[in-house]
Amino acid sequence: MKRMPTKSKQVYENWKIYSLENELMFRCNSKKALWYLSRNLATQISEDSIQLNFIPKGLGHHFQHDDDDDNYFLEDKMNYCVCCGNNENSTLHHVVPNMYRKYMPEVIKSHASHDILLMCIKCHLTYETFATEFKKQISQKFNFPLGQAQIRLDYNAKVRKAASALLKEFNNMKDIVDDHDNKEEKENEEKEKNKESKVINNNNNNYNHNHNNYSNNNNNNNNNRKRNQNKIPDKRIQELKKIVLEWYNYQNIQINDVEHDNENNNNDEDNDKNILDPKFFNSILQKAIELPEYQRNPEFIEHGKFVINSLMKEYYYIKISLETGEQEIFNNEVDNNNIDNNYKIWKLKKRWPLLENFIKNWRSHFLNYAKPKYLSNNWKIDNSIYIEQ
Ligand SMILES: [Zn+2]
Repeated sequence: MKRMPTKSKQVYENWKIYSLENELMFRCNSKKALWYLSRNLATQISEDSIQLNFIPKGLGHHFQHDDDDDNYFLEDKMNYCVCCGNNENSTLHHVVPNMYRKYMPEVIKSHASHDILLMCIKCHLTYETFATEFKKQISQKFNFPLGQAQIRLDYNAKVRKAASALLKEFNNMKDIVDDHDNKEEKENEEKEKNKESKVINNNNNNYNHNHNNYSNNNNNNNNNRKRNQNKIPDKRIQELKKIVLEWYNYQNIQINDVEHDNENNNNDEDNDKNILDPKFFNSILQKAIELPEYQRNPEFIEHGKFVINSLMKEYYYIKISLETGEQEIFNNEVDNNNIDNNYKIWKLKKRWPLLENFIKNWRSHFLNYAKPKYLSNNWKIDNSIYIEQ
């Protein structure tokens, strides 16, 4: 687990910034207040208040919020855990995990302070368990793994599944390897040992046991076998065999190509064997069930990036006339040259409805699972997502 920075001093220092008109505009920490003071951009008017000496041009995003946001941003920020009220070992909690947030558009990212809350480490860790579960659900919904950057090898998965089903079926029947010939078994072992693959070495273990133990030693994939006595219809067995044998033949061709000049090449001997000899076929099945189902994706895309990109595919624009306040919604890019004359002065806002829902779902999840008793009443699920209104 990554280390969480703790806040030994007060996180919110609650400096108040007043406008020239003496209205409380926003709050900030001492660093920012001193920044204004050091540049003569503000005058200190009380112990923890400064007044700006200028009218901020265009009012930056800190100043523009809807009513709920205003209330939230202008109230005193408490220096204790929003869940339990503890004021020690605090950490800043991102309601929308950073793995998603960092891929969001700037107009949303810049508004992140709404979704950063103070929590003690204990409450933070308790909630993280639920958050991890929620991430797994998101991962399933988007069919995109959370962890390693892997891609599923569908063909391998198909062969593995077929081999696994056949192994289960054959080991139910038990007599698949009845015909043990010790001499041949030893030869097999010697031959297999020459191969490098540990997969194949594992197979040898199976040959070392007589058939009474065979089913117990076969592999862990067959745990449910005894309880599951369903027989696979013959026709299906033939289909499954075909899948495995096609794979086996194909990879043998590839191996032979690669190892053509290799003096230890045993594949010719393998090829000489009757592929349908039960014991030999069993060893093929053992190899097949060891096939990797995933491999590293050379074009790795992080889970968070994938999810956010997917959510951002749906968007629309709001075109607002600054003269009349009229608004129109466009589903496509607005053509600059084709703007109605009524909108000589207008601004355009891009909106991502799915992303909005995603963020609100995280807020909702936080309220439901962290159950913050000390959270401001002005912190609401429906508070603004974007920096500008
Ligand atoms: Zn707490």
